[in-house]
Amino acid sequence: MSKLTTRPVCRLCRREGEKLFLKGARCESQKCALVKKNYAPGQHGPLAKKGRGKSEYGRQMREKQKAKRIFGLNERQFHNYYKVAVKTEGVTGIAFLNLLEKRLDNVIYRAGFATSRAQARQIVNHGLCHINGKKVATASYGVKVGEKFEIKEKLRGSKLFETAKASKFNPPKWIKVDLKSLTGEIVAEPDKDDFEKSIQTNIIIEYYSK
Ligand code: SF4
Repeated sequence: MSKLTTRPVCRLCRREGEKLFLKGARCESQKCALVKKNYAPGQHGPLAKKGRGKSEYGRQMREKQKAKRIFGLNERQFHNYYKVAVKTEGVTGIAFLNLLEKRLDNVIYRAGFATSRAQARQIVNHGLCHINGKKVATASYGVKVGEKFEIKEKLRGSKLFETAKASKFNPPKWIKVDLKSLTGEIVAEPDKDDFEKSIQTNIIIEYYSK
């Protein structure tokens, strides 16, 4: 498995002024860059923080950027989820988060098979994941209720999954997981208690609906 990412992801948290939890265990430790440098990156970072996001537009833009970064999506991908959510019956914000939550890379992360979404994406992109017995190497694949997912059998002994198998991680109630065998199933739709608490979709919707 190659290095998780070469992007200086901690700068993204510093830019948003809050933890986005992009680097697994490091995010919970004193090594977290935001613990040491809680200001925006760059030469004018400490000053920039003070004036950041004051306008309505700036606030909406920052909320959207933050959510994109949490899920590791580019603008086109993220906006496409919004467009699908708008056409979905029910509350747009809930539909939006539901779509993001059920991406295969996010499911692998939520199941505890990876310590970050970036690592989960690499697991999927490297073809290590099966859905209902068939290889799926598309991180954006939307996993449905009733579908079973697993790590390819011959890789379950890999060092990559040692932490996951040894952990006492409790997955959310919409995912049933067996960490020992690295298998799981989507047993329900995620609901509002399961979504990323730090994302305010109403603000993102305001941004896109202009
Ligand atoms: Fe963000 Fe994690 Fe880096 Fe802290 S360690 S700045 S939470 S990515």
